[in-house]
Amino acid sequence: MRILVVEDEADLGDAVLRHLRRQGYAVDWLRDGQAAHDVLSYQSYDLIVLDIGLPRRDGFSVLRWLRERGDRTPVLMLTARAKIEDRVSALDVGADDYLSKPFDLREFDARCRALLRRTQGVASGVTTVGSLVFDRGARSATLDGRMLHLPNREYRLLEILIGNVGAVVSKHEIASQLFDFDGEAGDNAIELYIGRLRRKLGSAVIIRTVRGVGYVAEAAGSGNEA
Ligand code: CA
Repeated sequence: MRILVVEDEADLGDAVLRHLRRQGYAVDWLRDGQAAHDVLSYQSYDLIVLDIGLPRRDGFSVLRWLRERGDRTPVLMLTARAKIEDRVSALDVGADDYLSKPFDLREFDARCRALLRRTQGVASGVTTVGSLVFDRGARSATLDGRMLHLPNREYRLLEILIGNVGAVVSKHEIASQLFDFDGEAGDNAIELYIGRLRRKLGSAVIIRTVRGVGYVAEAAGSGNEA
């Protein structure tokens, strides 16, 4: 899960960045609208948190440009509390949701989670694969009813694989969702996390390596184990 935060207020941007990274998301933070426009021309995200008042190019203009080119990435717009017309305009231009500043980080989390679930097309947020129950709402995974202890990166990796059960997810796709521009990506890091997940999942869920391509998660006994 990779998130772009576009916010020019240093304190707020920094707080949001740290908060999201602590939860294991890959996060990029940009401080002006033109930079966001440039990066969004080639990099895709699962969620964009977009301020309205930005240097060089405002949030409305960035969002309008994004939607005009057919990009449906969920956008959470940050608006000033007093300006009701900003909220209306945000939705008109194509924002999926808005949050008035100042906001509580718990409310911010709830909005982000709801929009990220929409990206994955999973309404309930709960996916069952064999004896594994993956619950995005509760941020938990249980195996045969037993809670798995998953540090952030392992949890996010499992989330990516579980969101694509039975389908191959490329290493490139995993890297772009798991690591941001500042993070240390690389195949070795991914293999390390895959290895840890395999040990924790035991034989209940198989994470198969598709050589030279990526990985695929399958329920045990689905007949495709290599
Ligand atoms: Ca601003």
